Amino acid sequence: MRSVRSAELAALTDEHFREEAASFDGWSCKPIEIDDDLCLVGGHARYQAALRLGHPVIPSVRRKHPGNGGRFPDRLLIEVTRKCNLSCVFCPVHAEGQPPSIPEEDMDLDVFRKVMDECRTYPQVELLMHFYGEPFMNKKLFEYLDHLRPAPELRPVWMSTNGRLLDGDKIARLLDSPITYLQVSVNGISEDKYSRLMVNSDFGVVVHNVEKLLDAKARSGRRTPFIRLQMIELDQTHEDAMAFVRRWGEAADIVHVNAFEKQGGRLPDYHTMRDGRPETRRMCRRLERSDMVVLANGEVTVCVYDYDGVLSLGNVKDLTMLQLWQEGFLAFRERHRRNEWTAIPLCSGCSDWWL
Ligand code: SF4
Repeated sequence: MRSVRSAELAALTDEHFREEAASFDGWSCKPIEIDDDLCLVGGHARYQAALRLGHPVIPSVRRKHPGNGGRFPDRLLIEVTRKCNLSCVFCPVHAEGQPPSIPEEDMDLDVFRKVMDECRTYPQVELLMHFYGEPFMNKKLFEYLDHLRPAPELRPVWMSTNGRLLDGDKIARLLDSPITYLQVSVNGISEDKYSRLMVNSDFGVVVHNVEKLLDAKARSGRRTPFIRLQMIELDQTHEDAMAFVRRWGEAADIVHVNAFEKQGGRLPDYHTMRDGRPETRRMCRRLERSDMVVLANGEVTVCVYDYDGVLSLGNVKDLTMLQLWQEGFLAFRERHRRNEWTAIPLCSGCSDWWL
């Protein structure tokens, strides 16, 4: 990981370094701790040891975002479009043969503006400009991003793309955008496996686009957007995880291998290699994180797996986000705290409540 800075590093002695270097064995060492700006906030000696040993990639955890203390969602996912250019086999929405559960449309720009204008009142909202669509399928995407510009308090801002449509013009505009983290789902190290999973994409084009993006970022001298390359860990890709980290580790700001999520238990066939679910069912950890999702059609839901809006609290065209939070989300979470999830069909069959 690059771009970490800390004045505390200078204060470390050779003794600190020797202690950490003795236990540093590459991938399995304890992570360093970083904040939203990728600044080092914990594990300084470990970081210095990794640098001196020449490790280009250091495991890291991100310090918890401060949040809004229950007054408003801490994270908001905004589906700027439901359209997608791919049909990935593990996607519950766009895999071949899936009938659309809600219309495949762009979010209305006025709806987006309304939500963002309200969010400005709550400076600790972490914003994710994606859900189940590919953001670049929305032809006006940069107009949406421009609307974030006068709001430096809305950060970090995330956007995730499959990378297929990342051409030179978009790359230049992205580097000049208010996005803090740009995540590209590369999802593989070889054409063969990639094309079987990421249907309708092109591995060579995506790799070329990512290389162009990394090169343009390096030449720009900009610190953000931080480029995060990710791969989803499936049975088919598990053995490629370390090769993926090594392939991109020196060039990207963050490389991540994500555990596969079963979309609330609705995708049983793609078994995750890291199913560490506790045996005893407990309160949904997702709800404890205070996430809300605005679907492209304006429906607002409580859960990141509710892609068809069956748990919708109402539509943001009719209500404010604050009303939906106070009158909908908090009551829904309270039902979970009272262990009433069995009465909620999506939740009762869910296998991702612990993630
Ligand atoms: S239990 Fe599962 S479906 Fe229900 S809110 Fe939590 S993550 Fe979503």
